[in-house]
Amino acid sequence: MDLFSHIQPDISTITQTALQKIGQFIPENEVEHYCNDLKSIINYYDKKYYVDADSPISDYDYDILFKQLKELEEAYPNLITADSPTQRVAKGLNETFQTVQHLVPMMSLENSYNIQDLREFERKVKESVATNEKIEYICEPKFDGSSIALVYENNQLVRAATRGNGIEGDDITPNAKAIKSIPLKANFSQFGIHKIEIRGEVVMQLAVLEQLNKERLEQNIILKNENKKELELFKNARNTAAGSLRLKDSAEVAARKLDAILYQIGYAEDKNGNNITFSEIFKSHDDNLKLLSDLGFKTPFLDKTLSEDIDQIMATCLDWQDKRDNYPIDIDGMVIKVNNTKLQQIIGKTSHHPKWATAFKFKPKQGFSTLENVEFQVGRTGQITPVAKITPVQLMGVEISSISLHNEDFIIDKDIRLYDTVIVERAGDVIPYIVGSLPEKRNGKETKIEFPKNCPSCAHLLYKNLEESAWRCINTNCPAQLEEHLIHFVSKEAMNIFGFGEENVRTFLKENLISNIASIYKIDYEKVAQLEGWKVKSIQNLKEGIEQSKQNENWRLLVGLGIRHIGTTTAKMLAKQVAHLLDYANWNTEQFMQLEDVGPKVALSLQAFFSDESNIELLKELEVLGLNLKRTEQVLHSEKLAGKTFLFTGTLTQFSRDEAKILVENNGGKNLSAVSANLNYLVAGEKAGSKLTKAQKIESIQIIDEFEFLKMIE
Ligand SMILES: [Zn+2]
Repeated sequence: MDLFSHIQPDISTITQTALQKIGQFIPENEVEHYCNDLKSIINYYDKKYYVDADSPISDYDYDILFKQLKELEEAYPNLITADSPTQRVAKGLNETFQTVQHLVPMMSLENSYNIQDLREFERKVKESVATNEKIEYICEPKFDGSSIALVYENNQLVRAATRGNGIEGDDITPNAKAIKSIPLKANFSQFGIHKIEIRGEVVMQLAVLEQLNKERLEQNIILKNENKKELELFKNARNTAAGSLRLKDSAEVAARKLDAILYQIGYAEDKNGNNITFSEIFKSHDDNLKLLSDLGFKTPFLDKTLSEDIDQIMATCLDWQDKRDNYPIDIDGMVIKVNNTKLQQIIGKTSHHPKWATAFKFKPKQGFSTLENVEFQVGRTGQITPVAKITPVQLMGVEISSISLHNEDFIIDKDIRLYDTVIVERAGDVIPYIVGSLPEKRNGKETKIEFPKNCPSCAHLLYKNLEESAWRCINTNCPAQLEEHLIHFVSKEAMNIFGFGEENVRTFLKENLISNIASIYKIDYEKVAQLEGWKVKSIQNLKEGIEQSKQNENWRLLVGLGIRHIGTTTAKMLAKQVAHLLDYANWNTEQFMQLEDVGPKVALSLQAFFSDESNIELLKELEVLGLNLKRTEQVLHSEKLAGKTFLFTGTLTQFSRDEAKILVENNGGKNLSAVSANLNYLVAGEKAGSKLTKAQKIESIQIIDEFEFLKMIE
């Protein structure tokens, strides 16, 4: 059965919906669902591409969906699952961390948002224990950090792992040892415990975050003087804590002064390896906290509240919600548990959460402000974005004065008017969002927000595609787009010009040192020398960076030109097809359509670009200036694989997938993207899946491992 058949009929609708959400605020309770959609969509297209050698989505759309998923996962690390497509790519990042299995799965908690939810929770609890009697609940803060599981054996800390997907996490033992509040030894044997797994949260105190940022700001002054890249400031405590746990240098982890709060025992066994039931060790969760606290762990023991009255528990939650800003650590809610451990056992769990606990989620922080003005900004692709300028308001320690209004439809849907009182919301590190306006506060002075008909930068008439909600300026010489164009051109993804960052593009434009792409290669360095902060050394670096970029492989130039819908993958493919980029000047749409991975949208965009006289002139000028427009001819090491076709699958240990493909090409062989009768060799690594199964059914295909492959080219 096709794994994706259940979403196939709807895939284009789901994709369209997902694409429309890009750049929009995603309410927290919808994030998980949206992430799941993104995962299904990307997995579907990956399968289409890598298994069926078909590509029904443009590279551009694919790239932005992927980026969206990655950003959401960065903001909500608990949503990262092992099957997330981002995990394939991120694998290299944690190559130094070993994957380990938790002794018992780390479950998540069900969320509650109001008193109705809590009453429902109480009702189910009572139903499971079949009682009408009062049950005692324990309520403690829910820390906004990174989950951790510690294993102690023989009273010694032997392993620490991240939550990962709940079943498996990364072994980060050396980093956990660098956290001072985690005891390396604890006397569990006095309770007959030989091996125990304890769960908690690694957090960063807000004061520490502030201090770290202060130090970075001081360092940046020095770095700036030396013309070096400045350090980015840490955005919030949770992401910093999560990121710090994954640092490769434990000494650096120690410098981050992380904290760990432990509150739950996941598993325990005696020296004969027999499972110990918790109710044998302690009668209540309260006792559990006390025990951990007595053993030297930092726990929420002193912050807990006990009550048999769910209304009282609710009041406690709301009280904490109000005073959360005064707490030294970020908390995003409260956890409510049935206190009695025996009852916990009776109540039990579902496959993904315990039924005796629930998380009460705090409301995102809201503030009120006045919409003073709306500015219309022109993005790199010409998209016009209305930006609200509001009277500055403080939310979670950040001053907010400028918020995106996304597009015209957003303004109309929410009936937002100039001078309206608006509700501003910010949840965690999520970009601030305007929830809506308060019409009851209007006094008659409010006016409708007029969307411009002409580009605010170049006055060119704006254009709107029927299917899109955004207005665009399609003038390629639009000055507002020029800045973004140039920033993109010099960026790492494109020409990767060392020493030429965003700031320099802005300064150079302002000082008239550059005016378009070609002018980057004609900079008057004597004028640069007169600019503040530019010294002989930094000018030399910039010169070298620019000079080196001329030798770039020509796909970088293709990316740098900012042709709509052309990402890195398509650019690399395009670069291989012709001997010289100018050869494309004579191509028609049909020719482009015949290329692998190119649909009508991409083909039209390419044809439009290469048929434009001024673009061709630009390419010619760049070549005269010394840039490389020619195809990089591959160096043939041998002909050993001539006439043979290869496909790699599973986890490779000797080389990356890309390196493997290059090895094949360099030895005269050809890479295939799917299993078919044309395939000669399937090189299968660990955990090879459907491709291997498929190949085994075709007799002519030889299945070999990486070492056999390497022997072939020895
Ligand atoms: Zn314009």
